[in-house]
Amino acid sequence: MWQAADLPADRCLAFPPGFAHHCAMISREGGGAAEAPNRRAFLKVTGAALLGAEWAGCASRPAASEGQGADTSRLEVGRRVAGDSDPGVARAWSILQDRVNERVSVRWPEGHKGAPIRLEVDRRLPAEAYRLDTADQAIRVSGGSLQGLIHGVGKFLRTSSYDGTFGPSVWRGESAPRGSVRGMYFASHFHNWYHQASEAEMVRYLEDLALWGVNAVMVIFPMINLQGWDDPEAEPAMEMVRRYARAIRGLGMQFATGLNNTMFIGAPAAIRAGRLPDPTGRRGNSGHPICPSNPEGHAYLIANSRRLFERLADVGLDILVHWPYDEGGCSCEPCRPWGSNGYLRLSRDLTRVGREYFPRLKSVLSTWMFDTPPEGEWTGLTESLARDRSWVDYILADSHEDFPRYPLDVGVPGGLPLLNFPEISMWGNWPWGGYGANPLPGRYQRLWNQVRGQVSGGFPYSEGIYEDLNKAVVAQFYWDPNRSARETLVEYAAYEFGAGPRTISDFLALLDAMEDTASRSYRKEPVDRETVQRAHGLAESLQASLPEWGRRNWRWEILNLRAILDRERHIGGGLGTPAAEEALLRLIELYHAELETDDPYHHRVRPPLKRAVSRKGNR
Ligand SMILES: [Zn+2]
Repeated sequence: MWQAADLPADRCLAFPPGFAHHCAMISREGGGAAEAPNRRAFLKVTGAALLGAEWAGCASRPAASEGQGADTSRLEVGRRVAGDSDPGVARAWSILQDRVNERVSVRWPEGHKGAPIRLEVDRRLPAEAYRLDTADQAIRVSGGSLQGLIHGVGKFLRTSSYDGTFGPSVWRGESAPRGSVRGMYFASHFHNWYHQASEAEMVRYLEDLALWGVNAVMVIFPMINLQGWDDPEAEPAMEMVRRYARAIRGLGMQFATGLNNTMFIGAPAAIRAGRLPDPTGRRGNSGHPICPSNPEGHAYLIANSRRLFERLADVGLDILVHWPYDEGGCSCEPCRPWGSNGYLRLSRDLTRVGREYFPRLKSVLSTWMFDTPPEGEWTGLTESLARDRSWVDYILADSHEDFPRYPLDVGVPGGLPLLNFPEISMWGNWPWGGYGANPLPGRYQRLWNQVRGQVSGGFPYSEGIYEDLNKAVVAQFYWDPNRSARETLVEYAAYEFGAGPRTISDFLALLDAMEDTASRSYRKEPVDRETVQRAHGLAESLQASLPEWGRRNWRWEILNLRAILDRERHIGGGLGTPAAEEALLRLIELYHAELETDDPYHHRVRPPLKRAVSRKGNR
């Protein structure tokens, strides 16, 4: 019952204590996957998904009031599945079955009238909302769409227990997201995990994020690294983007990509942008930006964008994100000040071209690093959108540290919904992910408190899987702005690696200790040796007490490796010790990093094993 303790009483219609144990006596057994039934055939028959013959004994459990009656929705799902026109329910069922199977061995029978778990699409719910209730003695997970159903399956899975046997969730209630864009930005480059993962791994990870409530993922075609469309790397890069797009949209999530005025390396010199002033050194000047006020430059930008949209036409595109700085910008007179002048004209034109291909394309205008230094960009944007905001759907804002004050104090330009862009990958760790997990829940809670109630979601910047825990925390902020990082972490630890009531306080103390060490290290202060040692001890004790399936989960493994590496580098013999080398090598394996590479930037994302080689420098 402890899993439900964080819920307000009115949202949790719980069964009496012990229900889960009495009614889910699905014991461990050797059969496993070989006994898996033909799920599709089964769904055709019943329109519901069943689990375990042992459920027959559960008829006396108290039934929650059903309210809706036995009407259309169940039949509707049955029909859809039978006609195979909506494979969504089968997909959600497959995700559920797979996640349970990797935790406990469960027999999934082919047919049974007890219907202990049922998945349904109920169009009366808001599209992305879910409900967990009881109907016909079954636990029913309903979603307003495939996406809502997967979010609901996520809640069901996270509030179930896997302590030797499967204890199905006792959480009951309905939940709808507050944030409309619960995004992630996968920076798929430098041969990081997003770049290297197989399609199967990538799809599985997207499913995992959808279970946590994510509904949009951004992946970019990396023109910045390519000479042009003829570059031998262009087609593989495009295929990667297309694979992501198909997988993202196949889960009912929105696929987002980005464009700006930085395109190919091989762009003609005559159309290049003027270099930006960057007095604070935080805007960046990456790549080879083009001046859109130059007619030939403008034509070049539009032509390449058209070609990109054409290549995405069959896989689909939902969101176009415009980006002003780092990759982008022009300092010439007709473009200045970039953020409220040249940038707006180009972003508007690119949106209009995009909507020729994707009429419902949403446009997100980033204001990243606006007015650093102050040059009237925010004010200029407000004036421009007061005249015409037809081409913008969201304003995105953020900075390296605290949230920009303008949209909070003055208001969001155009009165549009606001998104954020929390950096969950790079802060306080170099190489990124190089020492394992980077849990920073305190930091993200503090940053969230600055914008809670004022943003409608966002796109956290992600360099890999090592910040998975931060992703879960932020995705749940977007779902429910008042849910604390700590509440999410309790659910995360129980579901991802089986930290139960006896171990959860150790887990939370471990994260606090790790965040303390990372923060001191970021501030260039000496770390607290005792804290580093305590984290290591807590990790060792958790490693000994977690269930075997939990220890096997890479999410636990990268936390444990972080504890080992923090000890070795801060208070031990350094990164050359056998323990450190073993940990680094294991991280390299988990990230699919390359021990020898020709990628001049791979060292940014590769754990710093001494013998790893970068042939083009930058070890
Ligand atoms: Zn210009």
